[in-house]
Amino acid sequence: MIRLLAASTAVAAALTLGAGAQQRSAGGNADPMADISKEYVRLALAMGAHDKDYVDAYYGPDSLKAGAAQEHRSLDDIGRTAKSLIDRLAATGTPGGDELAQLRHQYLQKQLAAMAARVRMLKGERLSFDEESKALYDAVAPTYSEAHFQEALDRLDQRFPGSGPLVSRYDAWRRSFVIPREKLDAVFKAAIGACRAQTLKHVRLPPGESFSVEYVTNKSWSGYNWYQGNFRSLIQVNTDLPIYIDRAVDLACHEGYPGHHVYNVLLEQHLVKERGWLEFTVYPLFSPQSLIAEGTANFGIDVAFPGRERTAFEQRTLFPLAGLDASRAAEYYEVQALVDQLSYAGNEAARRYLDGAIDRDAAVAWLERYALMPPDRAAQRVRFFDQYRSYVINYNYGKDLVRRFIESRGGTADRPEARWRAFEMLLSSPRLPSGL
Ligand SMILES: [Zn+2]
Repeated sequence: MIRLLAASTAVAAALTLGAGAQQRSAGGNADPMADISKEYVRLALAMGAHDKDYVDAYYGPDSLKAGAAQEHRSLDDIGRTAKSLIDRLAATGTPGGDELAQLRHQYLQKQLAAMAARVRMLKGERLSFDEESKALYDAVAPTYSEAHFQEALDRLDQRFPGSGPLVSRYDAWRRSFVIPREKLDAVFKAAIGACRAQTLKHVRLPPGESFSVEYVTNKSWSGYNWYQGNFRSLIQVNTDLPIYIDRAVDLACHEGYPGHHVYNVLLEQHLVKERGWLEFTVYPLFSPQSLIAEGTANFGIDVAFPGRERTAFEQRTLFPLAGLDASRAAEYYEVQALVDQLSYAGNEAARRYLDGAIDRDAAVAWLERYALMPPDRAAQRVRFFDQYRSYVINYNYGKDLVRRFIESRGGTADRPEARWRAFEMLLSSPRLPSGL
């Protein structure tokens, strides 16, 4: 997830060079896709005036941003133009050239179809949760009943015997693993440093890539990567609620290395700077690209720190830095492995809530009971449902789709080098969910 920021002149210059290189390689003819690509960027920027969360990042030419602000196109105009661009893409047919050129063609079609769907939603059309996720993210997550979560809940109930709601017993135990506020920055920096080092062993990143970290409050999310272009990110960490020790590596990998920061850096390097593909300078949040972004960011945690490597690193480094009892690191992750089995409970709460089957209080209660979120965290999560809706599937279903794709390419857990290769390939290409 990333945010709208002005382009640097360096990026704009590199874009021009990239496009020029491509035109020359095509034998002097202009890239037939360039026109459509530019119009797509203009439409995405125009959407930003109607939907404040829509444009998550933009680092293309300033002139397009200024033009979008000046024109203030209506939703009807945007919807009509998106449809006509889809028709133009269909008329150009599947391009020749390499796999990336074909993926680019499909990418633009799907991204434009999602944009047209978002226009209809902004105009008041109501879609069911599954219809919406299909239209915006090119995927429908599996549905699970309460019974699906019961086995993990029973095991946790045995692990934390006593009376009162299980979530309260679990929460009381977990409080020993909160990172004290004054140690947060040191712990995060160490986690980011380690995630970066793990990534650099396997992936070559362009010189000068970097990011900064800020601590913020009053947000519906827990962390955010705002990509700024020119290989730079701003990572924000929300400190509204206590931050447990596992969030350090989770956020460092997810927002930074090899997650969102690396994904955006590789897209900018390979698709924008090398090929001059302008459409990748804009990131529409409510689009299929988000499933790839969130899925790779979450799967990237396992790629960077497979299995016991993570517990060993945290025991050695992060627990002592946070002033936590390092002898309890294995205990913590044994319990978290069980809690991870409840991951899809959040989707069920969101589906029922957004489909109108349950109200806000019932959604909070569902998250407490089946996702083991304490009341304040459950309330924050429902605010996330209000703001981002079916986006929730991008995290867990996205991760599962990405894992399947990487493993189908030989990147199983016992073959780390093949896993990194397949992962890097996915991060560097415009592949979309239905192509996984
Ligand atoms: Zn994310």
